[in-house]
Amino acid sequence: MSRYWSDVVHRLTPYVPGEQPRIEGLVKLNTNECPYGPSEAVLAAMAAQTGEALRLYPDPQSSALREAIAAHHGLKPAQVFVGNGSDEVLAHAFLALLKHEAPLLHPDISYSFYPVYAKLYGIQTRELPLAEDFGIRVDDYLAIAREGGAGGIIFPNPNAPTGMVLPRAEIRRLLEGVPDAPVVIDEAYVDFGGESAAALIDHYPQLLVTRTLSKSRALAGLRVGYALGDPALIEALIRVKDSFNSYPLDRVAVAGAVASMQDEAWFAATCARIVATRERLGAALADRGFQVLPSAANFVFARHPGHAGAALAAALREHKVLVRQFPRPTRIADFLRISVGTEAQTDVLLAALDRVLAAA
Ligand SMILES: *Cc1c(COP(=O)(O)O)cnc(C)c1O
Repeated sequence: MSRYWSDVVHRLTPYVPGEQPRIEGLVKLNTNECPYGPSEAVLAAMAAQTGEALRLYPDPQSSALREAIAAHHGLKPAQVFVGNGSDEVLAHAFLALLKHEAPLLHPDISYSFYPVYAKLYGIQTRELPLAEDFGIRVDDYLAIAREGGAGGIIFPNPNAPTGMVLPRAEIRRLLEGVPDAPVVIDEAYVDFGGESAAALIDHYPQLLVTRTLSKSRALAGLRVGYALGDPALIEALIRVKDSFNSYPLDRVAVAGAVASMQDEAWFAATCARIVATRERLGAALADRGFQVLPSAANFVFARHPGHAGAALAAALREHKVLVRQFPRPTRIADFLRISVGTEAQTDVLLAALDRVLAAA
């Protein structure tokens, strides 16, 4: 606290990301990073940019990247917005599209950054509880929107931290029933098994889909995310971006991201590898008595009926295995969110779990 702070800063509740500790030999399964390094083509493209050209500002429109992303999705560059990680893209969407008189609707259990952006921008929100089985109930959103109570809607699909997917038919039903409010689908994890809503963009002008290169493309350290939507929605994001930072993506990031979007072989092979390990991990946890939610992401969300979540996470940390546990809402406090690592990291995790469960 300081008397030099603005009122805005006094009122903020910043997001707390998963820890990035520097502990030798740590098995880090707490922030859903990719356990494998990025494609060689990405590293080569980035190395080629670290020369004399760095004295020049990058392209403020990141046109090369928007074209590569549009080509990957079969869309037009005018339907693509890029930013410094999808967190920045989401922040711009909150200000550009989700700030209205009626509240912004989102699930009570979803990405915990949403309430932070809402508070930063003074956006009223309404949390809708997930169903008993942790699924998103589209009918709840439709009922509120029908009465004019939805200024906007946002949720991740697959949801975080549950990993559970909402079928595209349900997204379509939501969009049919909510023509007058923007609907943002955060597809940070869609490459691991979800059905993308990107295919619906030409049909629904209120739909914005956000994506990241952090998880499925192993580039969390590069900070590149993007949004897909009707050109009018993209224009709104560009207006906010150009009122904030003209150059959110540097030359190195653009070169790496373009190469990544073009390396289909690396992408397909890496996603398949992670999905295979996820299935093995889920089955191994179920064998050990865990309830494991059906995951379409690069993590699993699981709880053991005989162990408190916080105690389990702390015990695993003693064995140098880091997982994420969310104390709130209390309905999920006993769950562990475990990122899918390499096969070897999964072996270490399971061996540590066996020791912890046997000791308790
Ligand atoms: C990781 C994550 C993001 C942020 O991704 P970045 O592109 O690294 O900023 C956004 N939404 C959800 C649900 C995530 O899990």
